Amino acid sequence: MSRASLSAGAAGEGMEFKADALLLRAVDYGENDKMATLLTAERGKIGAALKGVRKAGAKLRFAAQPFCFAEYVFAERGGRFTVTQASLHDGFYDIRTDLAAYYAAASVTEMCGTISFEGMPCGALLVCAVEALEALDADQSAPERPLLKFLLEAAALAGYPVSAGDCPGCGKKIAGRRFFDMTAGAFNCADCAQGVPASASTYEAIRAFLTKGELPPEREGYIRAVRLLKAYLTYHTEAELPALGEFLRLSPLKI
Ligand SMILES: [Zn+2]
Repeated sequence: MSRASLSAGAAGEGMEFKADALLLRAVDYGENDKMATLLTAERGKIGAALKGVRKAGAKLRFAAQPFCFAEYVFAERGGRFTVTQASLHDGFYDIRTDLAAYYAAASVTEMCGTISFEGMPCGALLVCAVEALEALDADQSAPERPLLKFLLEAAALAGYPVSAGDCPGCGKKIAGRRFFDMTAGAFNCADCAQGVPASASTYEAIRAFLTKGELPPEREGYIRAVRLLKAYLTYHTEAELPALGEFLRLSPLKI
């Protein structure tokens, strides 16, 4: 990923700068334009207009598509940004061949939008998001895995990491019934019983990622874990996370 570069235009013409950015969302605006929200490493979240991109054959049409990862050139004038050029790194087009993978990817961009802010550097979040999209683009068979990995990374980057070690209350190894403490982001045992009940498969799926262990939980455990992470991230961010809700609704497993 190249560093964003800055170049000042002539006096009065505003600034122009380049940055690798991931398109988080784009909404129709005016006759032929879109207003996009993009995630950059150095400037955090940026809102920018893409002019004329809804016209057939528009040169920058690709740059307003979901999940577009590109080097964007932004022009700034009076505090507003317009995308003037874009050079595609990856469009992750195979994600759209599967509805669950699509909503997993939409959950990734939704979460990026929830925990990033204008002017707040977020290079690590951008890297994690692009890695998740790469994994979803390469294989659509189990989208809950890259999604769970990303949600755990995102929670940690946002300042509320999840842990799945021994019980923080009594220090014992957790077996049998488990509880998840939303405030602490930690599982604990049936004796300490802080928080909401959680299944063994949920705990094992999260533990597998956090310890990079070789445990191979059932697919169900990963989906249950994504459900727990949705509740956890909503608890901390107060965001409703509709794309993540849709991903869980589409889940082939009745959980
Ligand atoms: Zn305990």
